[in-house]
Amino acid sequence: MTSLPEVARKKLQDLADNAQRRELAISLREEAGFVKRGGKKLVSFSCNDYLGLSQHKKVKKAAAKAVKKYGSGAGASRLVTGNHPLYRELEKKLATWKGYEAALVIGSGYLANIGIIPALLGKDDLIIADKLVHACLIDGAKLSGAEFMRFKHNDAEDCKRLLAAHRKNFRHCLIVTDEVFSMDGDLAPLSKLAKLAKQHDAWLMADGAHSLNKPSANVDIYMGTLSKTLGSYGGFICAKKEIIDYLATTARSFMFSTALPPSTVASAIAAIDVIRKKPSLADTPIKHARMFTKALGLPEAKSPIVPLILGEEKKALAVSAALSKAGYLAVAIRPPTVPKGTSRLRFAFSALHKKKDILAMAKIAKRYLQQTR
Ligand SMILES: *Cc1c(COP(=O)(O)O)cnc(C)c1O
Repeated sequence: MTSLPEVARKKLQDLADNAQRRELAISLREEAGFVKRGGKKLVSFSCNDYLGLSQHKKVKKAAAKAVKKYGSGAGASRLVTGNHPLYRELEKKLATWKGYEAALVIGSGYLANIGIIPALLGKDDLIIADKLVHACLIDGAKLSGAEFMRFKHNDAEDCKRLLAAHRKNFRHCLIVTDEVFSMDGDLAPLSKLAKLAKQHDAWLMADGAHSLNKPSANVDIYMGTLSKTLGSYGGFICAKKEIIDYLATTARSFMFSTALPPSTVASAIAAIDVIRKKPSLADTPIKHARMFTKALGLPEAKSPIVPLILGEEKKALAVSAALSKAGYLAVAIRPPTVPKGTSRLRFAFSALHKKKDILAMAKIAKRYLQQTR
């Protein structure tokens, strides 16, 4: 036997000692807005299914119909035989929804980000990213081999400073940001960054995984996911047609990974149709988030995501446990997902949450906060 099991055991113990070991909890989702854990039904504030579309009748029906007709898997990469006709329909709808010329669907949001960045930049290039961008953008930047710099969170001035000092030493330059920050719920200054990109001959890429609408400014490369608002699975990129064509023939995570099952593509198409029939649906999650921030006396929510920053890992776990006892699920988010000392509860609001649940949950959170402060 090798030393590997022993090394793994020791590493796990270190993580547990720092309250950073994660457990895979069995989470049964049978109804939009709810999760069953340990036999207990909880109102979930920890799903990114903002519009409840993963449980929508039409979306489920589209997936079931596609399985019956086309089978369960795609059989190969899209560049081989996996490029089902449904892809063209989905990509057209995605491009229209986000206001772009073209779109490309890739295996997941993670695969999109780790594929796009190395396809566009290499070792003579510069990537400048917001300090709090999602982990997969960091992984993509590292894989590219480009020089990697970070600007202070949502600070366009700091980005400008880096551009002024370093842009000239590199061939191409990419500015990278989340559009809605996944753990903080705040919004990037996209128009300012777009202006800087123009001034400094840089490109702008935004990760819109948590967005419910079109991007608020002109972004060269706009990435999104089918797995959150659309309630399905898979990632996508929107851009000018020649950029999309280039990525489809160079992004390694696109080329060397099997296409999504046709049923997954079919359910994303059905989800976009639901949104396009009732665009006001997309406004409800943020209204619910604002109901919550108002009840707690927090700054007004900018998106459906609201963090309650508690500091220590143990404190976040304790408040999460108190909420769970009362029937509400808000999973504690700890390092390395967020910086050390900023452990938090992250609330994701859905269009399907009920006002009474939001207010009752806020009341418990408030009481607990007053006790522990
Ligand atoms: C969830 C998420 C991703 C990854 O998308 P998946 O489709 O789940 O792989 C990328 N970026 C951000 C900001 C995310 O929150």
